Amino acid sequence: MSITEVALSSSSTTRAMPVLGMGTGGYPFTVDAKKKLAIRHAIELGYRHFDTASLYQFEPALGEAIAEALHLGLINSRSDLFITSKLWCTDAHPDLVLPAIRETLRNLKLDYLDLYLIHWPMSLKPGACSFPIKSEDIVPLDLKSVWGAMEECQRLGLAKSIGVSNFTRKKIAELLQTAKIPPAVNQVELNPVWQQKNLREFCKEKGIHVIAYSPLGGQAWPGSKNLVLESEVLNDISKAKGKTVAQVSLRWIYEQGASMVVKSLNKERMKENMGIFDWELSEEDHLKISQIPQCKRISTYSLLSPQESRNSIDLLDVDIVED
Ligand code: NAP
Repeated sequence: MSITEVALSSSSTTRAMPVLGMGTGGYPFTVDAKKKLAIRHAIELGYRHFDTASLYQFEPALGEAIAEALHLGLINSRSDLFITSKLWCTDAHPDLVLPAIRETLRNLKLDYLDLYLIHWPMSLKPGACSFPIKSEDIVPLDLKSVWGAMEECQRLGLAKSIGVSNFTRKKIAELLQTAKIPPAVNQVELNPVWQQKNLREFCKEKGIHVIAYSPLGGQAWPGSKNLVLESEVLNDISKAKGKTVAQVSLRWIYEQGASMVVKSLNKERMKENMGIFDWELSEEDHLKISQIPQCKRISTYSLLSPQESRNSIDLLDVDIVED
């Protein structure tokens, strides 16, 4: 493993995780030859940490790419890689967690995951995973028992570490009340435009490592601006530093002590995103970045189809936005 490792504590053991990972999510969740080839390119360049989820429907393709990389000798063994996947909300029921991770492992053709996350602090009625979700499918999450089943995944060796994603401080506090194994990780939206200072401080205090998703502001949505890549502040810093805006954003995350999963299908941009470890931001840069107006892109409401009447339902308990 490489790309500057960070130590993840998982119960009694400590494991290394590359700080920079490659994301495999992206809506619509379709698989094509370009996406599969991107994994091979990433491995060739030295990426060793891959982030996927049952929701993305990419696990079989990632499994094939890993098998191919082993066959081609791009990696020596499975243990050279750090593979994360996530439990989708339709499986966030105590009796469905073990079958879900086993299905994920079958898809990936692996014996174990390095990290398994609860994707969202919410349950949906069991059944086929459909996306966008319907508000009538949301059911109460039995967090204590679902986390108990996640702990069983770790005890059985199916996941080396377990964690959560999109958890607020409130949800983490609820989880910690009954957890026997605390979450090693909270994977959340994090970038200079959504800095999550309070959540990061809380996670640090609890020994939970933060992984940033959408570190470059996320994939392009029709008609919406990318507030990270188009940020004037980040553009000014990038020019002064002779770095790209993407590199400034990723470096900022790294200097906050977080890891990150970045998605690119383009080999040149993948390489560019690796160029963040041999330079640093100044105190003045940090001050300017800390003053960027904040704006969150992803919330539980954004999982609903636009036809849903957002005002008629109360998603506050399962929402992921906090100050
Ligand atoms: P992201 O990594 O912030 O941004 C991806 C977009 O940036 C892509 O459109 C990519 O286009 C472009 N890009 C990549 N490198 C670039 C560069 N150097 N310069 C300019 N543009 C660049 O967004 P994301 O996909 O939302 O997040 C990354 C990963 O996080 C996902 O793939 C997924 O694995 C994970 N994620 C998790 C959750 C969760 O709920 N846990 C939610 C969202 C995402 P090209 O492909 O054309 O380079």
